[in-house]
Amino acid sequence: MIGRRLLIAGNWKMNLDLYGSYQLAKMVAEGTKSFENIDVLISPSFISLGVIGQKLKDTELLIAAQNCHYEESGAFTGEISLDMIRSTGVNWVIIGHSERRALFGESDEIVAKKIKYALLNRFHVIGCVGESLEQRENREQEEVVQKQLDTILRDLSEGELENLVIAYEPVWAIGTGKTATPEQAEEMHEFIRKIVSKIAGEDRGKSILILYGGSVSLRNAEELLNQTDIDGALIGGASLEAESFNGIAAIAEDISKEQG
Ligand code: PEP
Repeated sequence: MIGRRLLIAGNWKMNLDLYGSYQLAKMVAEGTKSFENIDVLISPSFISLGVIGQKLKDTELLIAAQNCHYEESGAFTGEISLDMIRSTGVNWVIIGHSERRALFGESDEIVAKKIKYALLNRFHVIGCVGESLEQRENREQEEVVQKQLDTILRDLSEGELENLVIAYEPVWAIGTGKTATPEQAEEMHEFIRKIVSKIAGEDRGKSILILYGGSVSLRNAEELLNQTDIDGALIGGASLEAESFNGIAAIAEDISKEQG
């Protein structure tokens, strides 16, 4: 982290009902409200966004949807539009999570289309990239991530890029308890920064936030967050308990404070 504000984001996936989500959101808001040097974000299910978005609107907590559609409205049964999300008071969205890509058939093109549409509509976007285990074993990780990023970045204006955060999430490390080593993660983050610089200019390459995701926990957060090019974390499992999520946020706050 060089002079960037760390972002600690929790992806709750398809967990917690309305009551459980609201309770956890309150505990996170309460437990992180004194942190001045980082941003904290939670991403509950669609069904909980309305209540959490409204009840916590006066807190510093950022709230994101886990997905969106790229059309304004229409015959898309089961889908959610950005206007619907915005009406809950939420203006962040996670797009292109590897589970969306692998389980719901979202190609690089669909992910890029959603990201473009969300940024055009002034949403803040966490756009996810990352390679599978097979791709890493074949040493194709840079090629894969480069293609994902090229597709996302090629059509974005300077103004749109301002609201884009990248999350590097090696698929083999998500929910598996296997974490990329700090060196593996840093190497890829540096590579991502280089690609962003090449496509969008050096200033954007330096300023863009790049989160690491993949079994981040209280145990490994400090080492990961201390890497030069890691600007925060996207956390699945450990974001479902206030103790671990707020604890990781506290580690990030300390690092941010130290690095001034
Ligand atoms: C995720 O879902 O984005 C994630 C990184 O999950 P976990 O922290 O459980 O690996």
